[in-house]
Amino acid sequence: MDQSQINAQRAQPIAPRHHLIDGKHIPASDGATMEVLSPIDGQGLTTIARGTVRDMEAAIASARAAFEDRRWAGQPPAARKAVLRRWAELIDANALELAVLGVRDNGTEISMALKAEPGSAAGTIRYYAEALDKVYGEIAPTPGDILGLIHKEPVGVVGAIIPWNFPLMIGAWKLGPALAMGNSVVLKPAETASLSLLRMADLALEAGLPPGVLNVVTGEGAVVGEAMGLSMDVDVLVFTGSGGTGRRLLEYAGRSNLKRVYLELGGKSPNIVFADAPDLDEAAKVAAAGIFRNAGQVCVAGSRLLVEDAIHDDFVAAVVKAAEAMRVGDPLDVTTQIGAVNSEAQLHQNLGFVETALSEGGEVVTGGTRILDETGGYYMAPTIVTGVTPEATLAQKEVFGPVLSVTPFPTEDDAIRIANSTVHGLAGAVWTSNLSRAHRMVRAVRAGVIHVNTYGGADGTVPLGGVGQSGNGSDKSLHALDKYVDLKTAWIKL
Ligand code: ADP
Repeated sequence: MDQSQINAQRAQPIAPRHHLIDGKHIPASDGATMEVLSPIDGQGLTTIARGTVRDMEAAIASARAAFEDRRWAGQPPAARKAVLRRWAELIDANALELAVLGVRDNGTEISMALKAEPGSAAGTIRYYAEALDKVYGEIAPTPGDILGLIHKEPVGVVGAIIPWNFPLMIGAWKLGPALAMGNSVVLKPAETASLSLLRMADLALEAGLPPGVLNVVTGEGAVVGEAMGLSMDVDVLVFTGSGGTGRRLLEYAGRSNLKRVYLELGGKSPNIVFADAPDLDEAAKVAAAGIFRNAGQVCVAGSRLLVEDAIHDDFVAAVVKAAEAMRVGDPLDVTTQIGAVNSEAQLHQNLGFVETALSEGGEVVTGGTRILDETGGYYMAPTIVTGVTPEATLAQKEVFGPVLSVTPFPTEDDAIRIANSTVHGLAGAVWTSNLSRAHRMVRAVRAGVIHVNTYGGADGTVPLGGVGQSGNGSDKSLHALDKYVDLKTAWIKL
């Protein structure tokens, strides 16, 4: 990564952005805009359209028209594949611009953003481009006078609501399989991370995606997101974000057309370290990175460290050392390891969790405060709280910030019990050199993904989805395609 190129990109003014509806850039129907503040310094970057219900309805109507006239679904698979592959190439070719734009908007450190945002998004789009002409229907094992065919058909209009932590990566997790299967999409980015998604959508048009097949409407979740949820013309709603919003989306579906709703919600993922871990120093460094990169704003972050009694004090000391060695600062400096918290509101929420942890008997052994106030941006020191009981707020509720809770455990059974004592079930890890124990733990811990002797880094070939209140349905891998098709049976008398 070249710092001077990054600096040149960051110096670029950002023009005000409109919605993307029916292939055109359109302002809000009432002309309203929202100011975009950069978490790097708290300064205004540009404006985005503050969408109205009418805007959302127009985008859905455009997506519906594009689906009904088959301008995308009706193209031969090879043609759709070529468009998606071109899109991936354009994302790669514009990666630096996309990454810097996204970082100015959401505050992720560029060392992570470049790979995790445009890099990952291009890889995902390419993966589903390559997959789309390898998806077959089925012939059922019927009696000889019957031919039973199972068709996989696109569902129609997909609504996708995206969070602010990794807009391109998570956006591509929805867009890749939805578009590959021939659907039309309306995308609703987060208020504090719309810019890079809008730009990535422009590149889709440039790659040849027909107008109306991908629409982007910006604005408040409670207005345009709700209008999407309540629409009678959205067939499937896919979402990544908070549990509270997930609940609302299910209600909207019940109050409208019973659209299918797939939720990827928060986690409180246990990172479980046994005394027989192969390399405790490595485990400590990875534990710190697994919660503090992107300032903890990662749905699968290892936010609960469970440590076997025998090594607790030494291991915590090693994690503290690793945390204190991480560089917090300007997200656009290539050496920064922990960037900005996305918004001032989120920063205050993080600090509130620390106060609550203290009042419930926890001890802050490093961090716990806002730092770098002089920048005007939103930064927080990596924070470790020890002595957190399994029932404490910090062990139960997702912070979505750079705050690690530490809980000791005496035995494997206790580790499992504590690991499974939240309503969440998104991710987790176990560190041990005992192969049998590793497999036992993988089976016993309730989660969508369990890492062994590592944390994070699972690529697009494997699914990611939560269990319990962490959600339903998976992003990534060929399994994600199932969300974007309907099965249709043809029962033919011969
Ligand atoms: P977070 O706490 O990560 O910001 P949210 O669930 O509030 O999580 O936001 C994730 C996405 O959900 C954003 O795009 C946001 O605009 C959208 N959203 C928020 N509230 C609603 C709502 N009532 N209906 C639909 N979408 C919403």
